[in-house]
Amino acid sequence: MSDIKFTRALADPDHALKPAGRPGPLGKPLVLANDGLPEEEKAWFCDAYPTASGPYKGILENFLNWARSKSLWILGFGTGCGAIELRPLMTSRFDMYRFGIQPRPTPRQSSVFVIGGYASVKTLKRIVRSYEQMMGPKFVVALGSCTINGGMYWDSYNTINAIEHYIPVDVYIAGCMPRPEALLAGFKELQRKIRRGECEGAVKYAENFEWYKANQKKVIHDWNMPDYNY
Ligand code: SF4
Repeated sequence: MSDIKFTRALADPDHALKPAGRPGPLGKPLVLANDGLPEEEKAWFCDAYPTASGPYKGILENFLNWARSKSLWILGFGTGCGAIELRPLMTSRFDMYRFGIQPRPTPRQSSVFVIGGYASVKTLKRIVRSYEQMMGPKFVVALGSCTINGGMYWDSYNTINAIEHYIPVDVYIAGCMPRPEALLAGFKELQRKIRRGECEGAVKYAENFEWYKANQKKVIHDWNMPDYNY
């Protein structure tokens, strides 16, 4: 799953990867959140595309990664039926808070996005928007077979098959549906990867922004939002 080839956008066979920020995936310029606004309102929205974070900073980065791994804030957005398994983690039996994991109500305050099951095209639009609104460093956990490879909905007309084609995924938790213990194991794996500096999904998203954008636009036909929703 992790060896995606970022060589060609799915939506446009003639599209080759370009450095971030230039012509869009469909040959049109990418549209920013403040495009078309009056001058006095442009400052309300960010007018920059995502950028890859800087190079490894040695021992300081190690310390920051350790701290990040101990403070995971999950976006409270249940995207599919697998999200039901997140609820038991908040109870005393599983008690995810002891690992420094807790839910937040808004993407702006969250660092972990759990894609909890099948993603319909309608939901994908909200997933993209929510993911882009999260501040970095941010991580994505793909929970359940439907999220990872389509599962029982693999040939459904209104769901997408592999979430990793639309946003980057850092940890996969297989199953239908995975039990809370599997989720905890997934979060422990996420923490381990963060500590080792291996959770670079947001960097991948910035570096291959046009590729992801082309895939998103191929399935989301009513694209009535900016190309980057920061
Ligand atoms: S993998 Fe199973 S539990 Fe998860 S969304 Fe699909 S059908 Fe539902």
